[in-house]
Formats: sequence, C-alpha cells, structure tokens
Amino acid sequence: THFGFENIPEGEKESRVGAVFSSVASSYDTMNDLMSLGIHRLWKDHFVRSLNPGSCSKTGAAGQNGWNILDIAGGSGDIAFRMLDHATNINHDRATRVTVADINADMLAEGRKRSIDTPYYNTDRLSFMVANAEHMPDVADNSVDLYTVSFGIRNFTDKQAALNEAFRVLKPGGVFACMEFSKVQNPVFNEVYKRWSFSAIPLIGQLVAGDRASYQYLVESIEKFPSQEEFREMIRQAGFVIPGQGYENLSCGIAAIHKGVKP
Ligand code: SAM
Repeated sequence: THFGFENIPEGEKESRVGAVFSSVASSYDTMNDLMSLGIHRLWKDHFVRSLNPGSCSKTGAAGQNGWNILDIAGGSGDIAFRMLDHATNINHDRATRVTVADINADMLAEGRKRSIDTPYYNTDRLSFMVANAEHMPDVADNSVDLYTVSFGIRNFTDKQAALNEAFRVLKPGGVFACMEFSKVQNPVFNEVYKRWSFSAIPLIGQLVAGDRASYQYLVESIEKFPSQEEFREMIRQAGFVIPGQGYENLSCGIAAIHKGVKP
C-alpha cells in the first residue's frame, strides 16, 4: 500500500511508517490492486517503458557495461523486476543490474522472496540493501546511472534531503525518475476521485487489512504531497536539469512521473 504519515510528529514518523510496512508487506499486492483497481500495474509498466533501461537503448549512457540502477523504496521489487525484464528482453542487455534499497527489512524480505520466481534470483544483477533514502553513506558519489523511486518519496520525512542524496549518487548524465501520487487536474474528476479515496480506501483497508487508520493516513498523505509544479521545483532545487515540462500526468494526475537529469 502507499502510506504516508504527514500528520504525525516528525520524530515518530519513521517508526510509524516502519511498523505499517512491516505489517502489510505480505498483503501489499492485493491491497494495491484493490485500491487502484489494478491500474498501478499499468502505471508501473509505463514508468519503466518510459525509462527504457538497458545499454542498447538510444539513451544508453552506460555503454556495454549495462546500467547501474538504484531503486529506492523498492521493497516489493515491483519496479526492479520490470526494469531488469525490460533491459534483458527489449534491449538484450544482460549486464544491467538493480539494487533495491528500502528502509524496511520486512519489505525487502518480501521482495527477495518474490525474486525467487524471476531469472535474477541469486545473481549479481539484483541485490537488496537496507537504507534510508535521506542518507545513504554506502552508496558512492557519482556511481548510479538511473535512480528510481516509485510511490515511496511521499513517505520520507525530509524529501528535499532525499532529492539531494539522489543528486549526489547519480553520475553526471544520470537520470532521477519518480512516480508518485499527485494532483488531479480536472475539477469534476477531482471531486469524484476525492469521494472515492476518502470513503472507499479506508473502508477497503478496514475490510481487507483490518487497518482503517493506516489507510486514512494514505489518503491524507496524498492530499499533502506537493503539486506537480511544486515537486518539480524541489527536484530543480537539488541541482537537476528538468527535461521539457518535467513531469507526465498519469490518469489525469492521480499519479505523475517526474524526471531530472544530473548535469
Ligand atoms: N516501490 C514500490 C512500489 O512502487 O510498489 C514500493 C512502494 S511502498 C508504497 C513505499 C516504500 O517506501 C515502503 O517499502 C517503505 O518501507 C519505503 N520507505 C519509506 N520511507 C523510506 C525511506 N526514508 N527510505 C527508504 N525507503 C523508505
């Protein structure tokens, strides 16, 4: 699920986020499917296609050695597996590798378990690392070709610190890519969406996961996350060059993909 804890004291936020993700790690997919009506899978496919990971791509800055990708808050491995599949099957690149980093060891354990069914299990193309996105001393400066964060940054206590850290670890020319819930652009659709999210999502949480409060936090955190334009400015603030408009709306702005390039 896509939790956030914007409305609790900063000191408590990290442990609350941790506790919730530990408890939902195993029912994570079911809840995502129910809450998004399965659409999160289409968004994730699109996100990865738009990045075209792998060396044979036109943007293959990493050459023959494949890309070094860091998937932050990647717990379940959803984005990592898709990126490795894309590099392998579309770009015929068997060198690109992904490190899945997450603050929560239980989410990583779930991702590792799921990786057993992939060709990347126990290979040097896929690794898991417990890390806080805001401070990653184990990741070297200028070492990453692509940094991805999908439905994660909303949960971070200090988002700007995480963006600055993304800038530090990326190589010059490296790409920052973030998919996150955003602001619905059409006022009529926004009204329908808000009614759905504020009533149905906590109810689904109560019925399926037995946890109404956490799902209440989810909708509130989406409300509080910066708009497309505000978030783009935070990315710029970290030092990134913004390509084009800087973001792409998904499903009328329910979610958005933001990108930045390290000059
Ligand atoms: N990327 C996956 C996806 O798209 O389905 C998982 C997203 S899940 C909603 C959010 C993840 O963010 C959780 O696994 C949580 O443990 C992680 N997280 C929260 N705060 C974090 C932080 N400061 N650093 C790294 N990961 C964090």
